[in-house]
Amino acid sequence: MLSVCHLYPDLLNLYGDRGNVIAFLQRCRWRGIPVDLQEVNMGDNINFSQIDFLFLGGGSDREQNLMAADLGKHRDKLAQAIDDGLVVLSICGGYQLLGQYYRTLDGKEIPGLGILDHYTEAGEKRLIGNVAIEMELDGRKVKATGFENHGGKTILKDDVKPLGKVLSGYGNNGEDGYEGARYKNVFCSYLHGPLLPKNQELTDYLIKQALKRRGMEEKLTAIDDSVEQSANERMLKRLIKGA
Ligand code: GLN
Repeated sequence: MLSVCHLYPDLLNLYGDRGNVIAFLQRCRWRGIPVDLQEVNMGDNINFSQIDFLFLGGGSDREQNLMAADLGKHRDKLAQAIDDGLVVLSICGGYQLLGQYYRTLDGKEIPGLGILDHYTEAGEKRLIGNVAIEMELDGRKVKATGFENHGGKTILKDDVKPLGKVLSGYGNNGEDGYEGARYKNVFCSYLHGPLLPKNQELTDYLIKQALKRRGMEEKLTAIDDSVEQSANERMLKRLIKGA
C-alpha cells in the first residue's frame, strides 16, 4: 500500500494543483498498486513515517502566509522524512515554502522551512505563461510542459539542483535558465497545468521512487499514454522552434 498525503488541500490548490494527486493515485490504481489518500489541514497531526508521497501545491501570498506558521510546526519531522528519502512534489508557493524565505513585493518576509537551500523574492513583473523544460529522469532527458504564474523569483544555492532547464518560458526567475529544484527525493517546480497529468513520465518516476523506498517491486506495467504524449508533443511544437 502506498500512502499519499495532500497537505492543505483547501489552501494550496491553485490552477488545479490537486490534479497532481489524482494523477499519482490513478496511475497506481490502473496498475493494481494499492494506494490511499490522506488530506491534512491546518492544525492536523501528520505521521510522516506512514507517508510515501507528499504533495504541497501553490497558493497566493495570502494563503502562503496563513499556513506558513502551521507548516513550521511540522518542520523537523518533515526534514527528517525528507532526509530518509520521502518522495515530495511541491509546486509554486509550496516550493517557495520549502526554501529559506519568500519576500513579498512590499518587503514582508514569509519564513520558509529552510529544508532546501533556496530563497525567493518577489519581482515587479509577474512571470506568467506556458513553459517547456528538459529534465533528467533515470539518465534520460525528458521534456515537460506546464503553466507558470508567479511573482516570486527563486534562486537556488549550492547544494540544490534545478529540476530542469528552461526551453521556453521563465522558470525559477527568468534569468538563469533553470526551473524548479531537486534535492534527494524532493521535486519542486513552478509548473501548474497541473504538472503530473500532463507529464506522465514524471508521475511514473515519482511512483517508482516511492515503491523503491518501501522495498516494493518498482517495475511498472505500461499504460497507453498516446493521448498524453500527443498533447505534450503538440505543446512542445507550439513553444519550441524545431521541436
Ligand atoms: N505567492 C507566490 C508568487 O506569486 C506563489 C504563487 C503560486 O503559488 N502560484 O510568487
